Amino acid sequence: KRKMPTYNGTINSKLPRVGTTIFTVMSRLAAEHNAINLSQGFPDFDCAPELRALVTKYINSGLNQYPPMAGVAPLREAIAAKNETLYGIRYDVEQEITVVPGATYGIYTAVAAMIRPGDEVILFEPTYDSYAPAVEVHGGVPVYVQLRYPDYSIDWQAVQAAITPRTKLLIINTPNNPTATVMSSEDMRMLEGLLRGTDIAVISDEVYEHIVFDGHQHQSVTRFPGLAERSFLVSSFGKTYSVTGWKMGYVAAPKELMAEFRKVHQFNAFVANGPFQYAFAEFMNNPDAYLQLGAFYQKKRDFFLEGLKGSRFKPLPSRGTFFQNLAYDAISDEKDTDLAVRLTREHGVASIPVSVFYRQPPAHRVLRFCFAKSETTLAKGAEILSRL
Ligand code: PMP
Ligand code: GLN
Repeated sequence: KRKMPTYNGTINSKLPRVGTTIFTVMSRLAAEHNAINLSQGFPDFDCAPELRALVTKYINSGLNQYPPMAGVAPLREAIAAKNETLYGIRYDVEQEITVVPGATYGIYTAVAAMIRPGDEVILFEPTYDSYAPAVEVHGGVPVYVQLRYPDYSIDWQAVQAAITPRTKLLIINTPNNPTATVMSSEDMRMLEGLLRGTDIAVISDEVYEHIVFDGHQHQSVTRFPGLAERSFLVSSFGKTYSVTGWKMGYVAAPKELMAEFRKVHQFNAFVANGPFQYAFAEFMNNPDAYLQLGAFYQKKRDFFLEGLKGSRFKPLPSRGTFFQNLAYDAISDEKDTDLAVRLTREHGVASIPVSVFYRQPPAHRVLRFCFAKSETTLAKGAEILSRL
């Protein structure tokens, strides 16, 4: 066989600072060292058997060709019904909902539809890792607003100061990865007020919408008319139904924004996987799966925290998502990137160093642990961490 020849042209990278994502790096390291993998966010348990059976049923029934570009009708109807029941808003099934191959794709496509070179996009830092590259690859300019440590609260004056005539978009994420905080209704009203009278659109990453703890209520943009009118709402079936590998989600937006979104989508993925869409449509008829998700993960969070009671790690509040952040000032003054690697190699527990979600490592040092795991795994992880 012939080896691939080398590419000798000049590459002017559109993403010169981007390497491999931390999730890939840490999951690979965990596998190499046979470590407990509390790094990349995914469940270590399987999805509902009924959901697997539905997918099999629809594949076997021959629904294996291109579905409609916006998604199959029963699924769009189920998504509209869910949003109406939970948040009191009715998206138009024909024009305002599009099923997509994952939330990452939905966010990327919304950015592609909205951003021209030089346009500014307001991001909160720490920032989920896919946002800035999506902006930069389209020539957009990320403008960062720092979340205040340790409660990661939003400084609305700083947001106001970040808005310029070039601001086109603002991306929020609640419940938030990696901070595990949730935005309050006051936050949403502040945002609504700040954007009133502007042309700034919002991408609202709500992939953890059903994973909210301690009686907090998820503050979807859809609850606030002044935000709903300018927002791309993005959600992911991967998180809600414990099938992160299936890569499926949806975007909902006012029809004017959705029309632009679909112009890009139809020439990119064009559609999301058909048989899986029929399966989700049927499975969504039973709302228990997502209504019980908060309680399910709260129990896991509490179990993990109980295991860490005697530990020198200091838990930061986790109010949503399936992540628990731990500060380690009492244990080490290593950089979080170094400690995450050392814990994986030497102690067999993998985590995510939160500094990777910043442009410059902040003064405070925190590791993120995913508790979407079986109790056995969480107990083992907590026991190791408690010995440090
Ligand atoms: N946004 C956030 C905040 C996430 O944490 C994730 C994945 N964990 C995604 C988007 C991506 O979701 P998907 O796998 O559906 O692309
Ligand atoms: N969003 C997941 C996390 O935060 C990982 C997704 C990915 O690997 N791209 O861990």
